[in-house]
Order: sequence, then structure tokens, then C-alpha cells
Amino acid sequence: MHETNWAGNYRYRAGKLHRPSTVEQLQEVVANAPRVRALGSRHSFTDLADSDELVSLEGLPEEVAVDREAGTVSLSAALRYGELAEVLEREGLALANLASLPHISVAGAVATATHGSGDANGNLATSVAGLELVTSSGELLTASRGDPDFDGLVVGLGALGAVTRLTLDAEPAYQVRQRVFEGLAWDALHEHFDQVTATGDSVSVFTRWGEAVDQVWVKSRVTDDPEQLHDDLFGAAAATVDRHPIIELDPVNCTLQLGVAGPWWDRLPHFRMGFTPSSGAELQSEYQIPRLHAAAAIGAVHALAERVRPLLQVSELRTVAADRLWMSPQYGQDTVAIHFTWHPDPVGVQRVLVELEAALAPFGARPHWGKVFVADATTITPLYERLPDFKRLVDQLDPRGAFRNPWLTNHVLGPP
Ligand SMILES: Cc1cc2nc3c(=O)[nH]c(=O)nc-3n(C[C@H](O)[C@H](O)[C@H](O)COP(=O)(O)OP(=O)(O)OC[C@H]3O[C@@H](n4cnc5c(N)ncnc54)[C@H](O)[C@@H]3O)c2cc1C
Repeated sequence: MHETNWAGNYRYRAGKLHRPSTVEQLQEVVANAPRVRALGSRHSFTDLADSDELVSLEGLPEEVAVDREAGTVSLSAALRYGELAEVLEREGLALANLASLPHISVAGAVATATHGSGDANGNLATSVAGLELVTSSGELLTASRGDPDFDGLVVGLGALGAVTRLTLDAEPAYQVRQRVFEGLAWDALHEHFDQVTATGDSVSVFTRWGEAVDQVWVKSRVTDDPEQLHDDLFGAAAATVDRHPIIELDPVNCTLQLGVAGPWWDRLPHFRMGFTPSSGAELQSEYQIPRLHAAAAIGAVHALAERVRPLLQVSELRTVAADRLWMSPQYGQDTVAIHFTWHPDPVGVQRVLVELEAALAPFGARPHWGKVFVADATTITPLYERLPDFKRLVDQLDPRGAFRNPWLTNHVLGPP
């Protein structure tokens, strides 16, 4: 098919890209394909989504249904968050959180436990209340929160089937204000880490591991209480102009800052739908560390600053709440996520990742499934207590290994 992922660093080797327009057609495609994977909006950075054949669900009817009594919205899984937000806006509804960009498909984000930030916010998969997927026999399976194995089905890494519909928790629409603070001293971050991440509902710390932390982005829900205005955040000055996380890039791509209240979907992501997110020419990696090791892990990366900086566009630190989803990097632990937006230099990045992963190993760092990392299945296995259960689920739902691909074998499941 000769097509690439969003970043352009990976060319899919699949010989065929199917685009079914009904669930029945999808069932037939999946049942007849020896090896197949569902493809989302292609924002992952590796061969994670690849197979001999791929199937895009973008041609399935776009149906969004709100259930006000249950407080949920059910949607076609290939929808992007930005598209879903348009419907929710008309219904006066919202999601609890979003990632840095609204461009990604809901199914792809959920399958890889994509997250935003916030001490009290779980990753985006935690808002899944139900799902429907086509398994490798072509059967349509539905499951809801509370069903046996549901916690294993949600962050499925594409290994369990093609997810056709998702039901997400919804809540009344709300407004958010976003403010940026610049030049936080490292000592202040370490001393007041818990207070910094609790300054808003979603807080992102951007740094190039230099003399000081570059920027702190604070997103706060608007309430009836008057806004508590700060001229500074532990010595970091409030920005007086809009910023891009990569300081030299144009903030026109970013959601509005300077405390201007706006709808949840236009403030929680850093980047605006219809504009280039991040830098566009990049690779990304991210490690989720148990929150109790935050200071030590941040210190360990800081000690590698000279190795990291030449390849780095920017790093982002976020917090994500614990959950019970078997393959979630937040399973059983509140986490701090240490993210790297790299220059597109795969060889250099691979080299520095070996050093970073060695430095972060003592803290039980779990890599982001959708980004670039080195750890193989042997390293990953002890990090996921429920991995044996996930393997059982894979065997049960996909006994012929149709959804298995080299990425899964190398990084998660090990050899069959
Ligand atoms: C600019 C940029 C910013 C990002 N920001 C963030 C961020 O803020 N937070 C974060 O956590 N991550 C972030 N990511 C990573 C991104 O969210 C993940 O890589 C996510 O998987 C992308 O979803 P996708 O639909 O593009 O997935 P794809 O790359 O298309 O697929 C990823 C996986 O999902 C599976 N999948 C997709 N659709 C289905 C389906 N219907 N059924 C079953 N499996 C399916 C695929 O098989 C594959 O295994 C970012 C990536 C980019 C490029």
C-alpha cells in the first residue's frame, strides 16, 4: 500500500488496505485474512499497527448516540476526538480529559492507553464503559465495564480484534482556562512537585533539561468561584503572550492561553484541530514511572541531559492517575510520564533510548505503547502483573494469531 504513519518514519509493509463500509464487510475481511490489523489515524511511531493486511474503519457509518440516563456516549471507534467533540458540544456534553492533540482516533488512543495529564485523571482508556469488537473468527463481541475480562479488553494493543464501537463516560460540558508559566527553577520543581502538578486539573511541564524548566502549562476548569490568579508559580513568571511547547514554533497551532476561558475540547489539548500538532518532523518516546519515584527518575534523566539534548525538541512531564486496566502503564499506580519529542534521527534516538531505559529501569518505567522504545518482551513481562491474563485473552479471542504481528511478539507476547 506504500503509505506511511503520521510522522513519516514508518512505511507500512501491508500489501492491502481494506476499507469496509459495513460491519458485515469488516467481519468478512477479518475472518478471511490470515494476518490483519486495524489501522487508526496512524499517529503511532512504530510497526505496532502493521500486518500483511490492514483494515481502516473510517468507512463505517459515523454514528454517535448519547445516553443521558447512563451518562455515556457511544460512537464509531474510528472517529477522532476532535470530531466527537463537535457532536458532544451540540449535546452540551464533555469528556473528562483529552490528550495533547484532538487529531487521533478514539480506538487507536484507547488501544494504546493514550493519556493527557492531571493528578485525578486516568488515561483516556479509563473512560471506556463499553466496547464492541470483531474477533478473528469474524464474530461480533460486546462487553461492558464490570464484565469478566473487560479490564483486559480495553487497552487491547490491537491484539484482540477490530474495535467497531466504544461507549465513553460523558459529563456536562465545562469551560477551561489555560495559563503558562516560564522559567521554573529545578529546585522549585523538586521541592514543590506535588503542589505544581496540583495547580490545575491538568498540568504539563515542558523542559529541554537546561538550566531551568522552560514552561509549565496549567489547565483549570472554570467554576463559580473566582479564579485564583497567580503572577508567578514558585518563582516562574506568568507568560504574557501565547506559547508553543517547542518555544521557537508558532503558537498559532496551539490552544488559547493567557487565562481566556474556552470549551474543554479547545483547551485540554495543547494543539488545535486543523493545525499541525507538535512539530510535525519528529519521533516520540515516553516512560511512565510510579509517582513515588518522580523526583529520582526526573533526576536520572537530568543526569543524561548532555546525551539527550542534541536529539531533543522538547520533553514533557505529566501526571496520570492509577487504573485497573491490565495493559495500562498506569495499572495499579499513580504515574509521572516523562515524554521526549525527538528530532527525526532514528539511529541517534535508538542509541540514547538504550541509555535512558537503563537509567529508568530501577524505577520500573513502563514505555508508552504507541511511541518508540527498546524494551523487549523479557523486560516488559515483570512490569505487567496481569500479562499472563492478557495472553490468555489473546489466545481465547484470536487462537489463529490473525492479529499477532512482529511488534507484539518482540515487545509484549514473546514467541508463540
Ligand atoms: C503529534 C502526536 C502527539 C501525541 N500526543 C500524545 C499524548 O498527548 N498522549 C499520549 O498518550 N499519546 C500521544 N501520542 C501517541 C498517540 O496517541 C498513540 O500513538 C495512539 O495510538 C494514536 O492512535 P491512532 O489511531 O493514530 O493509532 P494507530 O497508529 O493507527 O494504531 C495504534 C494501535 O491502535 C490499534 N487500533 C487502531 N484502531 C483500532 C481499532 N479500531 N480496533 C483495534 N485496534 C485499533 C492499532 O492496531 C495499533 O495497534 C501522540 C502522537 C502524535 C503523533
